Amino acid sequence: MDRERTFIAIKPDGVKRGLIGKVITRFEEKGYKIIAMKMLTPTKEIAAKHYEEHYGKPFYDGLVKYITSGPIVAMVVEGVNVVKGARHIMGVTQPDEADVGSIRADFGQIMKQNIVHGSDSVESAQREISIYFTPEEMNTGWKTVAEMLIDEE
Ligand code: UDP
Ligand code: MG
Repeated sequence: MDRERTFIAIKPDGVKRGLIGKVITRFEEKGYKIIAMKMLTPTKEIAAKHYEEHYGKPFYDGLVKYITSGPIVAMVVEGVNVVKGARHIMGVTQPDEADVGSIRADFGQIMKQNIVHGSDSVESAQREISIYFTPEEMNTGWKTVAEMLIDEE
């Protein structure tokens, strides 16, 4: 079983709209394990590191301004193929193209304010996790019920 870690963040619009609980619930109900979580307002430096792949693109300045505009809830989430699975739960970037039932389809209207961030590969996840968390902040050494049941297979 391929257990991975991914970096998830509830963006400022999600926090301001009171959707923290709903977003976390989607990942918890899937059986994923949250092993680290914090609320912070990203600095420009953190935002630049997070979105370095988008540097120079037309939407980059607006994206950095937006992600630094208020608090986000940053999380490390663990599970079987969680990078892909979490992106599926989030829905595609553009909320009006996202599948109904996904976070972005159900809660968002415009691309910039699409509620949630999730890493797009295992490599991106490792890079993004290290921007927001230290290894000591990972709460390992306990098991979710989903994890126990999957381990029995
Ligand atoms: N974004 C935007 N305009 C665009 C493309 C992206 O405002 O034309 C924002 C949007 O909030 C998106 C983020 O930049 O979530 C990062 O873009 P990416 O292509 O990595 O999408 P994601 O991985 O978040 O689905
Ligand atoms: Mg992305």
